[in-house]
Amino acid sequence: MRALVWHGINRLSVDNVPDPQILQPTDAIVRITSTAICGSDLHLVDGYVPTMVPGDILGHEFMGEVVEVGHEVRRIKVGDRVIVPFPISCGHCWYCEHSLTSLCDNSNPNAKLAEALWGYSPAGIYGYSHLTGGYSGGQAQFARTPFADANLFRVPSELSDEQVLFLTDVLPTGYMAAENCRIQPGDVVAVWGCGPVGQFTIRSAFLLGAERVIAIDRFPERLELASRAGAEPINYAHTNVFEALKLMTGGRGPDSVVDAVGMEAHGTGPGGIYDAVKQTTRSLETERPHALRAAIQACRKGGTVSVAGVYGGFSDKMPLGAYMNKALTMHTGQTHVHRYLERLTEHILRGEIDPTQIITHTLSLEEAPRGYQLFKHKQDSCVKVVLRPWEEPQKTQAAD
Ligand SMILES: [Zn+2]
Ligand SMILES: [Zn+2]
Repeated sequence: MRALVWHGINRLSVDNVPDPQILQPTDAIVRITSTAICGSDLHLVDGYVPTMVPGDILGHEFMGEVVEVGHEVRRIKVGDRVIVPFPISCGHCWYCEHSLTSLCDNSNPNAKLAEALWGYSPAGIYGYSHLTGGYSGGQAQFARTPFADANLFRVPSELSDEQVLFLTDVLPTGYMAAENCRIQPGDVVAVWGCGPVGQFTIRSAFLLGAERVIAIDRFPERLELASRAGAEPINYAHTNVFEALKLMTGGRGPDSVVDAVGMEAHGTGPGGIYDAVKQTTRSLETERPHALRAAIQACRKGGTVSVAGVYGGFSDKMPLGAYMNKALTMHTGQTHVHRYLERLTEHILRGEIDPTQIITHTLSLEEAPRGYQLFKHKQDSCVKVVLRPWEEPQKTQAAD
């Protein structure tokens, strides 16, 4: 089959690789019809997530048709059209039984590596380094999906791939980020980062009862997309965000703040330069937590900090003084995708969330390296790239 393969920092190509096989009786093989590039894939390409091995297949946002199942798979059948949640759930451990599927105890075969870094291991994740299991990802024509009955989610036939693909990650991730704000009626929510996760956080915050949502980014087209959902934009390239937020909230600050950026934030001023220099070594500091620092600083006293952006290792200069003395509460985590699927599918069916709004580019899998470039450098107003693993390059074109 064809697959997007990681060969080293900033080295990707589409190669011929062996087709995946059923390895366990609970596995299924999915023929992938649509797959997407995620902001967190950029951290792998840029070399900020350890334990990548040349030859790894990337991609954790994918869907398609089940073409083969192991002999212990009961619920899922050949021919089912499914989306595949990015964290792998075993379906029966303590965490999975408590709907905390991204913390599954049984799906990371390399748990020892993760335990050395984090104390305990979270769930395995497709195409996301050997630290989270070394599973081959879904930017490919086929993928092996473990614990198929616990993971694969059948989608309504009346919904297109574009409408349901983001159920795999960015839609539930934005939703959980908003839910983690513990929104009360009348609340003001400020969201750092208007990429795909930020966009869905904004839409979810309104669904969950926020009165106002403030969107912070530096790309006008992303702020425009946020405004169309009802958010009030702040462009941090030419506005002092802290002062603007204070002014917009009558001097009190937002009730909750969301970091939808993660470890490669673009900081300004001395803090930003400090992080950039240290992160370049990939050992002194693994993250550039500029957005998170700014969010903690700007949050009102007693407010809530929701962290959806991905971090992998260690961050410097965290404002714990502000965090402690303002009595803030933080909620974070990789998304427990499974628990949101029914609810979000209902929102899509009722037209309350339109996931297709964020798609700017649809390319063939063969064009994936170009898709990464567009997405990474935000060229051509790129917000989200969808890849079609079975289409010829010349037949696809950028969506408006
Ligand atoms: Zn993702
Ligand atoms: Zn489990």
